[in-house]
Formats: sequence, C-alpha cells, structure tokens
Amino acid sequence: MDLWTLFLWLPLSLALEVNLMNTKLETSDLKWTSYPKVDGQWDEMSGLDDEGTPVRTYEICNAHLSNQNNWLRTNYIQRGLASNAYVEITFTMLECSFLSRAGRSCKETFNLYYYQANHDLANDHFPPWMENPWVRVDTVAADFLGRPNRRVSSGSTRINVKTLRIGPLTGDGFYLAFQDQGACMALLAVRVFYRVCPAVVASLASFPKTVSEGLVVSAEGSCVEGAEGPQGRRPTMYCREDGEWAKPAVGECACVAGREEKDGRTKCAACVPGYFKASVGEKPCQPCPANSLSTGPGATVCACKPGYYRASTDPPTAACSTPPSAPRSIVARVNGSMVDLEWSEPLDAGGRGDLYYEVQCMECAGPCIPCSRLNYSPRPQRLEDRRLRVSGLRPRVTYNFRVLALNGVSERSSGAVGEEVNVTTDRDVPLPVSGIQQMAATETTLTLRWATPLHSAPTKGNILDYEVKYYEKDQEKPLIMFLKTPSNEARLLELHAGTVYVVQVRARTEAGYGAFSGDTLFQTLTQDPEKPHPQVALIAGTAGVGTLLILAVIITAVVCIRKHGSTNEPEYCDKPGQYLIGHNSKVYIDPFTYEDPNEAVREFAKEIDVSCVKIEEVIGAGEFGEVCRGRLKVPGKKENYVAIKTLKGGYTERQRKEFLSEASIMGQFNHPNIIHLEGVITNNCPVMIITEYMENGALDSFLRQNDGQFTPIQLVGMLRGIASGMRYLSEMSFVHRDLAARNILVNSNLVCKVSDFGLSRFLQEGSTDPTYTSCLGGKIPIRWTAPEAIAFRKFTSASDVWGYGIVMWEVMSFGERPYWDMSNQDVINAIEQDYRLPAPPDCPTALHQLMLDCWQRDRALRPRFADIVSSLDKLIRNPASLKITTREQLGTSQPLLDQRTPHYSSFSSVSEWLHAIKMGRYEDGFRNAGFTTFSRVQNISTEDLLRMGVTLAGHQKKILSSLQQILPSEKSTPIPDHCY
Ligand code: AMP
Repeated sequence: MDLWTLFLWLPLSLALEVNLMNTKLETSDLKWTSYPKVDGQWDEMSGLDDEGTPVRTYEICNAHLSNQNNWLRTNYIQRGLASNAYVEITFTMLECSFLSRAGRSCKETFNLYYYQANHDLANDHFPPWMENPWVRVDTVAADFLGRPNRRVSSGSTRINVKTLRIGPLTGDGFYLAFQDQGACMALLAVRVFYRVCPAVVASLASFPKTVSEGLVVSAEGSCVEGAEGPQGRRPTMYCREDGEWAKPAVGECACVAGREEKDGRTKCAACVPGYFKASVGEKPCQPCPANSLSTGPGATVCACKPGYYRASTDPPTAACSTPPSAPRSIVARVNGSMVDLEWSEPLDAGGRGDLYYEVQCMECAGPCIPCSRLNYSPRPQRLEDRRLRVSGLRPRVTYNFRVLALNGVSERSSGAVGEEVNVTTDRDVPLPVSGIQQMAATETTLTLRWATPLHSAPTKGNILDYEVKYYEKDQEKPLIMFLKTPSNEARLLELHAGTVYVVQVRARTEAGYGAFSGDTLFQTLTQDPEKPHPQVALIAGTAGVGTLLILAVIITAVVCIRKHGSTNEPEYCDKPGQYLIGHNSKVYIDPFTYEDPNEAVREFAKEIDVSCVKIEEVIGAGEFGEVCRGRLKVPGKKENYVAIKTLKGGYTERQRKEFLSEASIMGQFNHPNIIHLEGVITNNCPVMIITEYMENGALDSFLRQNDGQFTPIQLVGMLRGIASGMRYLSEMSFVHRDLAARNILVNSNLVCKVSDFGLSRFLQEGSTDPTYTSCLGGKIPIRWTAPEAIAFRKFTSASDVWGYGIVMWEVMSFGERPYWDMSNQDVINAIEQDYRLPAPPDCPTALHQLMLDCWQRDRALRPRFADIVSSLDKLIRNPASLKITTREQLGTSQPLLDQRTPHYSSFSSVSEWLHAIKMGRYEDGFRNAGFTTFSRVQNISTEDLLRMGVTLAGHQKKILSSLQQILPSEKSTPIPDHCY
C-alpha cells in the first residue's frame, strides 16, 4: 500500500483531539520549574488572551545578556493512550533589531525538549538541564515578530502558533522543557494532545474509535446489519496520523440478497415490495420481472404469479412464463410404411425461447396401445424442427399421433397441450423383415439371409427386391452402404476384418418399401493368426462334420429376441445354433460414454407412464432410496408385480444420472438369469426404475433364512443360473465388478438372477457401506474381489469369475460371510500367501474344486463362465458326483485357510455350540429335553431331534454332522459332565 495515496483519499470524518495538558484551562498557577534559579528567569504571569479569557503565561526577555541558557520545565504529563503526542505552543516574540538594549547574542528562537519517565521523578537537579538526557524536538522560530514598547502578551502583538510532534512515547508520562538562549518572548499557551479517529460507519461497515499512531494505522471493522464481506475477511480502514479516516473507494462489505445500500452506504435497507435483489452485491433492488411479484419487504426472488412458472435453469431475474399453446395444423403424409408429420408453431410460445416438440404415438389395430418398433427420424422427443418422419408402420393400421408443444416450464405445469392426427396405412406395404442370419463370414465378407416377411398376406409373392443397409458399428460418422438383392440373401463384400457391422434390411413391393428391420450386428473374421476368432473356430470345428451342421443351422427357424420397447436396437439370437454363429453380436455400451447419459436412458429404457404403476409396500433400501413392491399395468399387457427403485428427493443431477445409469445398463440385457428392466419413470417425481419382482429377495439373506433346507442339487441349480447369467454378461463384454450373493435376486421358482448394475457404490465418495472399501480410484468389496482387481484395478470377466467362486462358497455355506470375521487386510494377506477358503460343511468336493479353480492367482488359468456352466451341467447330469464330500479327495496342493474343526471343549456350553453352528433357535428344545451337557448330547438321535422340533432334514444333518466332528470318536473316552 502506497502510504501517500492514503492521504489523497477524502477524509471520512473529522479527527478527535484528546488533550493531555492545556494551560489555557488552568485556573491557578502552573508552577513550572525554571533553571537556573536566578533573577530574570522565566516568569509566570497572569493575563488575558485575545478573547479576553484569563490565561497563565511565562515570559522571559534577557536579550541584552550574553550566554543565556534558561530552562522551563512543565509538570509531569501522563501519556494516556497516546503513542505520539502533539505540542501546540502559542507564543509571541520580539524582533531583536528593534530592541534597544539587545546584544549580539539576542535570539528570535527557543528550543523544545521532552523527557520520558514512568512516574513524576523530576526535581531541581534532575533530569540534568541539558540536551541528552532531554530529547530535542525542534528549535522553534517565530513566524511573526513583535515590536517593543508593547506588552509582549498584549493583543496587538501578532501571535505565533506552532504544533510539534513528539514520540514515539513509551513511558507512562513525560515532561516538556523550553530552553531560552536570549530571546524576548512569552509562552501564552501550551497544549499537549493526541489524535483519535472517531467511531464511524462507512462503506457499509462500522469502525471503532481508533488512536492514530504513526503515519497510518489499519483498523478492523464489521459489516453493518444486512451486509456481509468476502468470506473470512473483515473490512479495514486506515486511521491517518492526523486522526482522520481514509479508505480505498472499493468497499469490502456488500448488502446481502434482498437488501440494498442506503444513506451514503451506511446501511442496508430491505427491498420494498415489488422489488427484489437475488444476490449479495452493490446492485440496487430491481423491479420484479414480468409475471412475478414480491409481496413483503426483503425479497430475494419474486414468485411467479399463478399460472406462470420458471424453469429450474431460469435465473431469478428471468420473467415467469407459461407452457406454449398447442401446435397447429398437423399435416400427415403417408408413404407406404412411413409417415411424414409436419405442423405449425403454437400461437403462444409462452414467453420463452426454448420451444420444442414431442410426438406420442398410439397404435390402434384394436384398442389403442403405445406404438412399439417404429423408427423415428430424427427422434420423437426434444424435437426442435416442426417435422418428424416415422417409419416401420404396419399395413392397414390406424395410428394416432399427438404432437405436444413444450418448453422449459412444461414439466412444472399440469400438462402440455397437443394436437392429434390419425393416420391409416395402406394395405399393400410389405411387413418389416426380421430374423437376419449370418450364413458365412470371412475377413472381408458376410453372407446373410433372412426370412420372407411372413404375415404380409396381401403382399405375398409380390416382393420385388430387398434393400440392405449396412455400416461399421463403432464409427462416429459411419459410411452408410446400400445393396439391392432380388432374393432374401445378400453377400456384403469389401468389409474390414474383425469389424462389427450394423445391418438392416427392407422389402419392396409395388406399393413401395416396407420398414427396415431393426439393427442386427455381425462381425467379420479377425486377421490375427494367433487368436482365431470364435467363428473361425466354429467353422474349423464343423468342417469335419461337413456341411450337414451348417445346413442344419441355416434351416433352423430363427427366433430372434428383440429388446423390449426400443426401435433402434440390435437383435440377438439365443437359440443354440444362432447363438454360436451370432456369438458376440451384441456388446454392452457404457452409458457414461454418451455425451448426455440421459440419452442412454432414452435409448435403453422404456419410459413408463406413472399412471401404470401402483406402489404397494417398501421391501428394501437401495443406494439412492427405497425399493418398493408394486404392480405394473401397461395397456394391452397383463398386470404384473414389479420392484420399484426410487430416487429419494433432494438429489443432484449427478446422482440422478448415476441412479438412472443402472437402468441404461440393465436395459441392454435380456437373459433369464439377468434381472429384467421393465422401464423407468423419469418424467415424474420420484424418478423410478421398474424391474421384474423377485419374490424371495436377495440370495444371501434368503439362504440364511433357509439354512440347510436345500439339497446340493438345488444349490447347484441356483449356481448354474448365476453362471449362465454371467456367461451372457461376459459375452457382452460387461464386467460386473460386484458379483456377490447380496446382488443376486431369487424369484418364487428359485431362479437366481444377477442384479445390481449401479456404478455409484464404486465411486470414491457417496456410499458409506463398509462392504465397499476405499481403494485408489474407487471402492472395492474386498472379500469378493480378485487380487489383481484390488491391487491394480484390473477388472475383467476373469475377476468376475473370482467373485463367482466366492458366491459359490456363500451359496454352499447357506449365506455364511466369506472369511468369517477376518479383517479385510487379513483377507488380502491370506490370499497373497495362497490361502483359500475351505469347503463349506457338506460341500461336494467337485464344487469346492471349482471354487479353487475360480480363485487361481493367474487369471488366465481361471475357468471362463462358459466352462463353469458346462462343469455345473455335468454335475447336474451326474448327481452321484455331488455325494463326494471328503476333503481328502481334493487332491489339491493349494493350502486352505486354517479353519480346523473345533473340539467340543472349545464351547463353554451346549447353547454356545448350537449358536456357533447357527442352530441357536433349537436351544430351548435342547434344554427342555434335558440335553444340557455334551455327555448327553453325544448320544442324541434323529428321533430325539424330531421330538425337540428339529423337523428340517437339513438341520438334523447339520447338528448330527457337527457332533460327529466335535466329539471324540473313541466312544471309550467318556466326556466328563463337570466340564460344562
Ligand atoms: P439394491 O438397491 O438393488 O441393492 O436393492 C436393495 C434391496 O431391495 C435388495 O437387497 C432386495 O432386498 C430388494 N430388491 C431390489 N430389487 C428387487 C427386486 N427386483 N425384487 C425383489 N426385491 C428387490
């Protein structure tokens, strides 16, 4: 800070002066001390000042004598708060040349000194009368000199006033001394004072009274009521040496929202009704924007008048607006299986510039139902242009199109208004082509074939030709190629090796083209000789069998499952024949690769009207809100129970995207062992994800509730389902990362389905679930995760296989916690040292061996999900293999975690043992039947157990086999009763 600029600012207030001494106010003799004690010294006199007020003065006039050294010392002056003080001396002095007797040593000056002391200690000899110890302040010369023959103190002599600064002052007080060296003068008044900057309110801040020190002192103030400063900083002002405040022009305090500066920036007054101020700052309150009002003082925003709204993205300064009126004059031009819709703008855009349109379609072949399988160009939602092409219409069907005009506030109002048009298609349009199959593939060609559209009776035999449209799937702006063929077969040439192509086919009759088929994906063979493509393997593998098998595949009726509710989705085939050929035809797309993840939701999840859903009861707690059971009734379909995941209120846009990402992921899957997405509700609050309802809930708790009640074959059936779902996911290149029994859902038929595709729990922030441990770059469920995924985040289908092994263990131990109560770190260390979980009680050896295979350190050595499915299938076909349960037969060199079977003596009571084997529920039965010691329990029989209410075979088995393990086998060693 440049100190000089401080003095250029205008002072904000006048200085205060606090007197430490003022001779003018003394009414009796001053009795100052003079030296030397001789005649002709400083003489105290009484007189009148120029206002006629009596004053005490000191005079001296030894101008005619040489070697004068006459001192006059004030009494002790207390310093008070001053760190510098000012001495204002009022005096008169005669001019030497006019003094008749003046010698050559006559002076027209005197000296001022001060001496600091902590108490009044001066006497006639002390402090010695000399410079040092006295500090000389200045030699004071008169500006105006008087003439003799007048009294020096009379009003006619011109008076001098000099102000001198002394300091810095550190002692409790000080003395002043005047030294005359031959002048003829009178001290009319001496005032000693210091300066204070007074308390002041300025720049919306108040500052306390501040003693001026040195050149400037900065003082901290506080913002006035209704004002605030930048965070953590208090306003400052500068108290100048002259006792005046000075401050830079830019104030640090500003009025908060709803208040504005008033009275020269000394206060913040509330905005009057009809005005508002949205944020802290210097701006004044502004009149409410159009269609809004503020009724009370201090408004920070003006509320919209009834019927007017602001969009969530509108600033408070925006006018309130309305949804647009309906679009006008819809024109529909039908052309074969296609209709072009055009319409005019609504008359009233609602006072906004963000008008857009949505087209809703109902198909009215019988009762009207929402359209499906139509292609829209460019899209049915968020249309900015007033035109839409809809293709894929079925022949002889009436379609109802409703065009809605919407804008940023439509979702805030009760509903958008639309205009409708009905369109009926012609009779002769060919039906869409479906069931495109790959007959052969090379590195550069694909040979495809499809069925003649089956149900287009009127067009049967009339198909003139087909048009095949194809392009590379992973190109951002793919080159779209077309090919015409007279038969239902085509050979695509000059393709790139190892590349996925999207293919669509449409048929043409004399009435024009039918709709294109949905996207179907095919891949050319890869060039890499090291890694033959599965198709190469297939062809090589079938070559020996000859063309028979290929032909069988060709003539197999194709049943392609198409993703529910989407029009642009690829098809995939799940019949064994096609499955091999069409293998890898569909890959999972990460919704976060979309620039706008909402686009992925629109693409992969069907929007369900909220009126179709009835919520019945809360069944669980999800990451983002409650999970409920409810019913879904979609027009034209039977009512079904569904699970409804809700996004609780107060979510951020990011949480909304993360929540809905699960739907965009789930919506890409269609497999009996993957939880099925019904759709989403994003247009209403709360946002919901609707899935099929799984009556038995999560697998881990389901097994714990039914401990010991399923046979190994039933458990293997469940595991087979999970493995099949995982095989499907791995073939789609989807890595689950959180495969665990808690994330498998079970329906009433004991079918297990993989669920929980949400990604949020892996993110660093957010979830506080201790199952997920923070690791570098995200959260990891340690016990279920492969070592390479924990160590360097290498998540692959092979790491999912590791997790699957843990799920197998959870299933075979009826929901036991993997690694029991070991800490996560202990688990990591144990795995590192090649320890693995032992077989759960009664676990078939083959299953434990499969688990151990899944837990191979080298992920390349782990089985793939396809291998696991076929291993389990073999076990299911050969149930006897599930009877072998002894560990000795493992034949594995892999060491197991040390879970030695405890001896009965490690339990302090029968009750403790029952709890340890999770059979605590039978504690009362044991006690009532007298089985209170191990010596009695050792002889227990199945009949005893039945009598005690242990009716479940699994539980009987568990109790008896545990007894076998914990009790000594030599019957000769009796168990002493007193132990318990
Ligand atoms: P999630 O957020 O997926 O972990 O779900 C939380 C809990 O809600 C689960 O542990 C289940 O108990 C229950 N739940 C979730 N989805 C379903 C469903 N489709 N059917 C039945 N219960 C479900």
